[in-house]
Amino acid sequence: MDRVECVVVGAGVVGLAIARRLAQAGLETVVLEAAEGIGTVTSSRNSEVIHAGIYYPAGSLMARMCVSGKGALYFYCRDHGIAALAYGPLCRGLLSGRITRDTKFTGDDIRRQDPKFQAPRLSQYVAAVKRLDRYAQDNFGKRVIHLAMRWVLDRDGVTFALWGARRPDQLDAVSEIAGWELDASAMSDIRRIVGLA
Ligand SMILES: Cc1cc2nc3c(=O)[nH]c(=O)nc-3n(C[C@H](O)[C@H](O)[C@H](O)COP(=O)(O)OP(=O)(O)OC[C@H]3O[C@@H](n4cnc5c(N)ncnc54)[C@H](O)[C@@H]3O)c2cc1C
Repeated sequence: MDRVECVVVGAGVVGLAIARRLAQAGLETVVLEAAEGIGTVTSSRNSEVIHAGIYYPAGSLMARMCVSGKGALYFYCRDHGIAALAYGPLCRGLLSGRITRDTKFTGDDIRRQDPKFQAPRLSQYVAAVKRLDRYAQDNFGKRVIHLAMRWVLDRDGVTFALWGARRPDQLDAVSEIAGWELDASAMSDIRRIVGLA
């Protein structure tokens, strides 16, 4: 072999994804890797988190790529029988419906450092949560916490949602989550409501 159409250097997740796309497009592709195996460097040592993009500045390239990449990765997981666990579905308690714009976070609570839980964004988020809560009550006889969990579970590719609680009674809402679901129209209503935030 003295000529190939494409050469990709590095068989980490980025190189392999690029090579896959090139090969799928019908291009003869060779991947060169310095290590003994593929995916043995950074890509095999990460936390395996599918980032939602909420911790990057709104509208930044990182935030936008996280959102589009997340969707693509969930579809990939669904199509290849890979389980995906959604972590933090209540967004640090915001979607529990119990946080108000006057809520104070104390001690070592990480929300003290999270801009989403400070003015001016907190009041915007709380207003959106109120609208979602009203929507959940009017359309399903549920509350925002149930709506939020269904929104996560009814997304293509999500297998489980990991719900954190500090007290047993914070898990009471679990019983209201099973037995109903959000269809495409409800998903679109929710996107519209959140878009108003
Ligand atoms: C601790 C940690 C946790 C992370 N957690 C997450 C997470 O939860 N979610 C997330 O999305 N991202 C996470 N990341 C980031 C993510 O792991 C990286 O962005 C990603 O793995 C980078 O992939 P890569 O293919 O660019 O690099 P690599 O996986 O490092 O692959 C590069 C490859 O190129 C090869 N190479 C280099 N030079 C040459 C050469 N000259 N010739 C041939 N081969 C060469 C290397 O041997 C290597 O195999 C984390 C990163 C770290 C360090």
